[in-house]
Amino acid sequence: MFKLTPLAAFDDNYIWVIESAKDSSIAVVDPGDAAVVEHYLAQSNKTLAAVLITHHHRDHTGGVEQLKSRYSVPVYGSSKSKFPGVTHSLSDGDSIQLFEETLSIKAVPAHTLDHIAYLVNGDTPQLFCGDTLFLAGCGRLFEGTADQMQQAMDYFASLPDSTKVYCTHEYSLANLAFAKAADPTNSEIDNTTTQCKQLRADNQPTLPSNIGLERKINPYMRTHEAALIQSASQYKNQTLSAGVETLAALREWKNSF
Ligand SMILES: [Zn+2]
Repeated sequence: MFKLTPLAAFDDNYIWVIESAKDSSIAVVDPGDAAVVEHYLAQSNKTLAAVLITHHHRDHTGGVEQLKSRYSVPVYGSSKSKFPGVTHSLSDGDSIQLFEETLSIKAVPAHTLDHIAYLVNGDTPQLFCGDTLFLAGCGRLFEGTADQMQQAMDYFASLPDSTKVYCTHEYSLANLAFAKAADPTNSEIDNTTTQCKQLRADNQPTLPSNIGLERKINPYMRTHEAALIQSASQYKNQTLSAGVETLAALREWKNSF
């Protein structure tokens, strides 16, 4: 299991720092801003050894060229990425070795078509899910379909409850407000909201989440639950079926929430 540190970037991004247990090497996930990473490297005396990219959006890749120009490191990313800075192309089912751990690659096209997730295997798995899965939320469907997002959610829900979820934005409170509207009698949402509000009041990240919690609170992972089907059907003013239809309606509703 990796030791991880979130670096805040832009308004609400997190760049996750992955530390080697053996030496001063680190890897970073989705370095949208090189200066944030370079500041961390300077003050911690660490050495950049690798960059992991989840998808092509600029707030996840904008710092890569500057980091590559200063450090000769592999840049992992999807073989389907529009981002030209990837040096090590990955496809669904691949695995990579990073420091002491093996990471499995899962294609999760939905937010973007090149989106991949990295899963660190082990007793407590660790998931780098970029902008696909958020605490109590999911990414916007910029390039993919609701059907693809449902498949991604099914994959995430199949992971062990103990899996830690390292999302790349601090969207938790807004997502929880929507989750409460869509699933009004779910007391787990209230409990999580209280905890997240306290963390934000203390200027702490609300992340990582974990799969066990997401299975209880995330509307997009609960599209087979009667309460969510009912709320989504009310929003669309028609009777929706479980799964994709419910997910599509929830995602559309959230866009204007
Ligand atoms: Zn994105």
